[in-house]
Amino acid sequence: MSVFKSIFPYNQQVIAEYPLMDDHAINTILTDSAKAFTHWSLQSYAHRAGILNNVAAILRKEKEQLATIITNEMGKVLAEAKGEVEKCAVTCEYYAQNAEAFLADEIMEAGYYKSFVAYQPIGAVLAIMPWNFPFWQVFRFAAPTLMAGNTALLKHAPNVTGCSLAIERVFKEAGAPKGVFQSLIIDVPEIEKIISADIVQAATLTGSERAGASMAILAGKHIKKSVLELGGSDALIVLADADIEKAATVAIQSRMQNAGQSCIASKRFIVEQKIQEEFVNQLQLQIQKLKQGDPFNTNITTGPMARIDLAQQLEKQMQNSIKSGATLQLGGEVDGANFNPSLLLNVKKGMATFDEEAFGPVASVITAADEQDAINIANQSNYGLGGSIWTKDVEKGIALARKVNSGAVFINSLVKSDPRLPFGGIKRSGYGRELGRHGILEFVNIKSIAAD
Ligand code: NDP
Repeated sequence: MSVFKSIFPYNQQVIAEYPLMDDHAINTILTDSAKAFTHWSLQSYAHRAGILNNVAAILRKEKEQLATIITNEMGKVLAEAKGEVEKCAVTCEYYAQNAEAFLADEIMEAGYYKSFVAYQPIGAVLAIMPWNFPFWQVFRFAAPTLMAGNTALLKHAPNVTGCSLAIERVFKEAGAPKGVFQSLIIDVPEIEKIISADIVQAATLTGSERAGASMAILAGKHIKKSVLELGGSDALIVLADADIEKAATVAIQSRMQNAGQSCIASKRFIVEQKIQEEFVNQLQLQIQKLKQGDPFNTNITTGPMARIDLAQQLEKQMQNSIKSGATLQLGGEVDGANFNPSLLLNVKKGMATFDEEAFGPVASVITAADEQDAINIANQSNYGLGGSIWTKDVEKGIALARKVNSGAVFINSLVKSDPRLPFGGIKRSGYGRELGRHGILEFVNIKSIAAD
């Protein structure tokens, strides 16, 4: 491929084409990253924080314009795109404010005159990012990495190249020196050249298991640290004593926002049999309120999926589940990338929408006999990213949360990423953490210094 195309997924109109970088351009980027590291890594936290705060200010000032690029390239409704840009601004400010404290020297008593841990930058970090939150996924890696004194290289998904270049421009206009944040417009075969470069000391990928495994193989081959944030098939467990209306409202919000293309969307609604009928009625009421269409139209709640092949893949998963015994209760129509919000009942382990990540607006309802059965079903997934439990007994919810095999559990609340809380998964959802203090610690040299 010699160009990447940006295509508005609602009507498949090509909106821009971007030529791929040649070897010379890639080498220049690597050299600039190495040069930038020599001075950026020595800057004070206050200096770096000033630039991150400028980034936040530009994101807010240009919110409408940047959100329009997001919606044009991957089809989420404009209001959600604006919310995404705002969240990036908040996260830049969060790390600008907290990075110094997170990375302060830590005294460790070990019998020496003085012994402590220093947290130091490591070099450039390569981020391989997906299209579903084309700003947020980048900022949640870039804000901590840059505050830690590393430089950043971004290989974004080809369909959101406009976002990749817009983010690079925002950093430049905020005063980030040349080479501190750079976009690579490259195809997958070029990735090894980047990972193997001396300046690159770590890589992080958000995306599918297939992409994650193949990046991790390269990182291992070249002895570079990696973080993987892969798919999920989060359980939303509704116990008999839950506020059923609220649980159903949040379930549909979680499943259908961003046209269902979120790693932490609730994908499996596991509900106690006693209340299933009422819960399903509430789900239907919520789905009927959704309006699908042009994501630039302010009356629309659900835009298209980001690409036609993704809609086709989801349709296949839905049809396979139906063939294996699931019932289609609502929706099911697909037109190009436009996938009607859909509800499947009687889903079980062994069906595609249970076993695989269903990355679009298809909700699966699974019946549980009781609380323990619900936890067992939740843990039958190969994934372990997030999950939620709905019960009026919060202490019981917390006790059950410890039994769910995942990187996060929320009780009576939407599962969402928050700059203050570590984010990441276990099992096939990946390893390592982003956000919070844990996120910034992933890409630093944890150096022990002991003096007698
Ligand atoms: P991919 O995982 O293929 O894409 C994510 C990123 O990884 C892109 O930048 C992609 O680049 C890159 N990539 C792909 N293959 C490799 C590789 N071998 N080595 C290194 N990097 C690679 O996602 P898709 O867009 O194809 O979506 C497929 C499925 O992945 C979805 O249906 C969903 O289940 C899951 N997914 C999960 C996400 C999440 O947030 N957890 C986000 C996106 C997808 P390129 O496109 O150039 O190949």
